[in-house]
Formats: sequence, C-alpha cells, structure tokens
Amino acid sequence: MFDLSGQPWIGQYPASVPPTYDYPHHHLAKFLEDSAARHGDHPALYFMGRTVTYRSLLESARRFANGLLGLGVRKGDRVAVMLPNCPQAVIAYYGTLLIGGVVVMTNPLYMPRELEYQLNDADAKLIVTLDLLCERVQGVMPATGLGHLVVTSLADYLPFPKNVLYGLKLRKDGQKPDIVYGERVLSFSRLLKTSSPEAVDVQVDAGSDLALIQYTGGTTGRPKGVMLTHLNLVANTIQSRLWAYRTKEAQEKYLAALPFFHVFGMTVLMNQSVYLAGTLLLIPRFRVEDVLKTIHKCRPTVFPGAPTMYISLINHPDIRRYDLSSIEFCISGAAPLPHEVQERFESLTGGKLIEGYGLTEASPVTHANNIWEARKLGSIGIPFPDTEARIVDPQSGEEVPQGQIGELVVRGPQVMAGYWKRPDETAKVLKDGWLSTGDMARMDEDGYFFILDRRKDLIIAGGYNIYPREVEEVLFEHPDVEEAVVAGVSDPYRGETVKAFIVLKQGAAADEESLKRWCKERLAVYKVPKIFEFRESFPKTMVGKVLRRRLIEEGQEPPGKD
Ligand code: AMP
Repeated sequence: MFDLSGQPWIGQYPASVPPTYDYPHHHLAKFLEDSAARHGDHPALYFMGRTVTYRSLLESARRFANGLLGLGVRKGDRVAVMLPNCPQAVIAYYGTLLIGGVVVMTNPLYMPRELEYQLNDADAKLIVTLDLLCERVQGVMPATGLGHLVVTSLADYLPFPKNVLYGLKLRKDGQKPDIVYGERVLSFSRLLKTSSPEAVDVQVDAGSDLALIQYTGGTTGRPKGVMLTHLNLVANTIQSRLWAYRTKEAQEKYLAALPFFHVFGMTVLMNQSVYLAGTLLLIPRFRVEDVLKTIHKCRPTVFPGAPTMYISLINHPDIRRYDLSSIEFCISGAAPLPHEVQERFESLTGGKLIEGYGLTEASPVTHANNIWEARKLGSIGIPFPDTEARIVDPQSGEEVPQGQIGELVVRGPQVMAGYWKRPDETAKVLKDGWLSTGDMARMDEDGYFFILDRRKDLIIAGGYNIYPREVEEVLFEHPDVEEAVVAGVSDPYRGETVKAFIVLKQGAAADEESLKRWCKERLAVYKVPKIFEFRESFPKTMVGKVLRRRLIEEGQEPPGKD
C-alpha cells in the first residue's frame, strides 16, 4: 500500500482507522458466505413486512447461481439485473457473482432505446426483471444478444397475494401482466425451486476479474461501462467500514432507499450491510411518507442518501409526528449537500449527517468527512484510507499550490480497471493509476477537500469564472427556496450569463426581484443570476441527482415552448 505518512489529513482519520490496510484479494460474494456462516438466522433483508435471513439469502443466491449454470451462463458472462430494491435484486446480484459472472445493473426506468444500447454494449447474455417491465424487455430482446429473460414479481416476497398487488395499480391499468413462459422466458421463482442450493466452485482473480460493469455518464452522450473488479468493490466496502468504525456486526439496520443499481447504493448499502451482517430495509421506490413510516417502525441506524432525499424529508409538513431517533448516522453523496439541510436534518433526528464524495469510476467513495470526531461544513472531507488525492491543473496535469482550484485526481484500490471496450476513453482519464474525476476542487490547509463543480459546469461570464455551486448555496439559504440549480446560458455579450432555476417551498412567495436582492447582498455582482426560472420540480435521476443538462437544455428553449 502507499506510504501516506506526511499527508496533511492523516492526523484527522478516526483514531481507530489504520493509515493503510491490507485488502483481502477475495471474491466479493465471500462477504455473503461469511455472514451466512456467522449469522445464519439474522435477518439480511426486510421487505414490506417479510424478512429473509442470511442463511436463506445465501441459499437462494446459490440456487440462482446453479440456475444460471444450467442455462449455459459461465464465468465472465454478463448478466443484467433490472430491478428496484427488492430481495430478488440482492439474490440475482450475489448469485451472478457466485459463478464469476459480471453484473450489469440496469435502471428499471430505462426506455427501450436506452435498454437496447446498454444490453448490446455490455453484450448481456441474460436479464432478470420484473413482470411489470417484461413487455419492454421483450420488445428489445430480438435486437440484443440476450439468450434468456428471467421474470419475477414484487409479490413473490409480499405477505399478500398477487392479485392484491395488481389491485394496488402498480400497472396503470391495474392488470396483471400476461407473460408467456417458455424456453427463453423463465420464472425466477421456478428457477430457484428447480436449481441446486449447493455451493458453486469458481475461482476468481480478485484484482483482475470483473464483478461489475456499471454504466455512467448517461445525462450527456452515451453511457460508458465502468469495469469494477472484485477487489475494487471489496476494498471500497472495507474502506467504508473503516470509516464507519463504530458500526457493529449483526446489529445495524440500513435504510435502503438509494437504489442498488446505482453504485452508491450498491457499495455503501448493499455490500456494506452484507459485509457487516446488517439488515437492509428495502425501499423499492422513494416516497417520503413510506420512508418516514419505515424509519418510525423499523428503526434503522444508518441511512445513506442523496441530498434531495434529506431535503424532501425535512420539508415534510408532518415530520415531527415520526420518531426518527434511531438514526445514528447518514452519509450524503452524489451531489452537494447544502449546509442548511445538514443542520436541520441533524436537529430533527439527533443523528449525524455527513457529506462524502465519489464517482462510479471509484466504486464509488473516495472522500468523506469523519462521522463522529471532525468535519467541515461544505467540504467532502478527507480521502478514504489508502486513497491519494491531488489537485492538478487540468491542462498541464501539474499539482497546483495548496488552496488553489484545480481538477481533483485520485488513486487507490477502489479505482476502476477502465471503461469497457473504450481504451481511448480510459486513457483520457486514467494515468499511472490516477483517475481524473472531472470535478474542480480545492484543498484547505487541513487537508479537507471542497468540490466547486464539474469541470464542464463552470460558467465563464465576461471573463469571470463562476462556480454554480457557490451561487446555489446562497439561494438555498433563502427561507423560501426548496431547490436551486444555477447554470450558464449563452449570452451575446458576456459569452455566458448566470441563470437560476428555482423550486420554491410550498406556499412561499419569493419572486425574481427579492431573490436577486438576496444574492446581491451576498455575492459579487458578476455572480448574481441575471435570469430566473421558477419550476414546480426538477427532472431527477433515480438517486435524486438533478438532471442539470436536461434542465439547462429545456431552459435554453425559446420562451413559450413547454
Ligand atoms: P456518479 O458517477 O453518477 O456517481 O457521479 C459522480 C459525480 O457526482 C462526481 O464526479 C461529482 O460531480 C458528483 N458528486 C458526488 N458526490 C458529490 C458531492 N458530495 N458534492 C458534489 N458533487 C458530488
């Protein structure tokens, strides 16, 4: 491991975290095998009133693995998992890994075009999905190399019969989907029933065999598949544990509201909980009320999330009716966490909410604030154990003096093997193990990092560099503002000008003039937004990240066009 002595942040690691750690080169699914061996009767999953123990989870994953082998899927083959958070997602994920298969997590919201592209790019052999999504998958199947479609229903793990589920109108017409099973279309539950629960004997080379191809970068251009090895994911899971060192084996409950098909939910929730023999409280779809009820009733101790999740909770009018006191800590990532949200959330729950940072290419976490001992508001914290971080000039690649802004580059055991089938793209971002994150950042004198913005989001107006995040923070502090996105729009004189998209809190009355005044009192004049657009809501990804590009493109359209 790297010699990190002399790095400014070392003294600020939680006392019990070793500066270097010898990450075991083992199969990612070993976490599940170990937890099942040690805590077989402990609940691994909780899904709408039902629990699945570690013993039963491992048995189902082995059945799925043997089922895959029976269908001719082999080590190295890609298996797409297109499911919301439900027991079958966890079973299919670990089952695929058990045969040395490569999991391709697929967003259940994908439309046929996106789905076809991803399945072909990854060259997936098999897909697991919900009955409700079957029609969509079957529609693209002939245009892909898929050999099999395995279909499951959320009702399989619910304590009520299927017709009640469809009565809940999960499908718009309230009808049960008609599925014609056959040689290529199989039932998930039948596959488990008819396959052996015996362990599968497959060797993996953790440092080079892929566990996952995880697609990213879909908001602009075509998504790229990030190749993550077993070691990448084992390392990031252990790094996260070292960080949250007070968590205890077989005692934690994780509120699984982040989707597992996003790398943040996958590592910080699913792999983390399975590693620690915790219980995952599965939330298939983020609805504020359901989440508040689950917290009240099931008493989770850990709640990783995206800022928009915490924002929607703290703005819920009845939040005080729910007991949220079980939450010990939350890690917010994926997007900047506004200070105000952090402080309000902590005062409402009594738990800690700290900010971390990561990206798919790093499995994902590279930085976080110390959960219990030290943190800085507005900062993404310090690098994870065994993670080196530098701020460099994006053009020359030279390190900039401490305190100055540059691009954040990172190196560590969690950094990807490269982009799938894209050596040129890989070469652009990965040099000697250093990953260019594409994020502009600075490091302060204590070794804390601050993200300013994506390199491509920087606004250059009349020669001034403006970081949207700084302006967004000011808008967020306004009592009427629920969400704010700031972006550059083209301007004939200044090149670009600053535009603010605003979602107001319910019943709030702030207008353009009052918000401009607010900004003028707090920002240099060139940073004050010249244009405001008020919205009911923002388009978002499934982890709640605002789709900035889409918002900006819509915002560029001529007025009057909806
Ligand atoms: P993804 O690969 O989809 O997880 O997106 C990674 C990107 O999310 C990073 O490159 C950052 O631009 C952004 N991001 C993640 N965490 C944070 C954070 N705490 N603050 C600001 N941006 C973040």
